[in-house]
Amino acid sequence: MKNRLLGGHVSAAGGLKNAIINGAAIGANAIQIFGASPRQWNVKGVEGKGVDEYKEALGKSDIEAVYLHAAYLVNLATGDNELFDKSVDNLAAHYEIASAIGADGIVFHIGSSKDEDRQKVIKGIASGMKEVLKRVKTDKTKLIMENSSGGGGKIGDSLDDIGDIYKEVGSKRIGVCIDTAHIFESGVLDFEKKSLKDFFDRFDREIGLDNLELFHINDSKTDFGSFSDRHENLGQGKIGLEKLGNLAALKKLQGKPWILEVPGFDGSGPDKKNINILKSLFGL
Ligand SMILES: [Zn+2]
Repeated sequence: MKNRLLGGHVSAAGGLKNAIINGAAIGANAIQIFGASPRQWNVKGVEGKGVDEYKEALGKSDIEAVYLHAAYLVNLATGDNELFDKSVDNLAAHYEIASAIGADGIVFHIGSSKDEDRQKVIKGIASGMKEVLKRVKTDKTKLIMENSSGGGGKIGDSLDDIGDIYKEVGSKRIGVCIDTAHIFESGVLDFEKKSLKDFFDRFDREIGLDNLELFHINDSKTDFGSFSDRHENLGQGKIGLEKLGNLAALKKLQGKPWILEVPGFDGSGPDKKNINILKSLFGL
């Protein structure tokens, strides 16, 4: 059997090569990084970030999957034209970096809307994604929407939202990331065995499990249905290891990358201890 792809979000500060070093240090074979600042509209391109050194280090490492996370500022669901255009530009610029380093994909947050007309909002998001796909030419690197924690007009908590956007974009170059904290906080999935089976059966029918690109595997500081996005270390949150284990037990999902975005036991982000707990969920 192929290796399980287990890892976490790591820092690429000081050069992309450092992401490989930081990933290896926590025992990850799948990593996620920011390709540029997640809190600035202005995107510094890939020049000067040490792509050659990065590729060399990656080739020598055990890391088999690399994802980028887009900026938090992006909002493709907005009705504000200026914000929408800035979001498309920013997401495309991050996607360009992901493509230049040969990453497997870039994960982005869909955004939020005050508009009551859901169909209009879905169409707007899809048009933004299509524009981003048009601007960045790549066959390898996928554009991946992440499910949201819901509430406050956030789009993308339900399978209805994600499925409708998926169909509206209609491209093989897009995928879906499921964040376990968000899906619990949104009240969409309680991680009981029956709910898990129903959810992923429906995901398969509507979108196809092949298009579920990766998991963000996080426990949640807040309650089921809280709509409050606060990640917690595995086993220290409201989902807990038993329920996260119910998810890990689903054979069809075990080959996906599982990437931690947890605070870390010493507060410095995904760490070896969380990775070892993640491994234990798979009986490793
Ligand atoms: Zn996430």
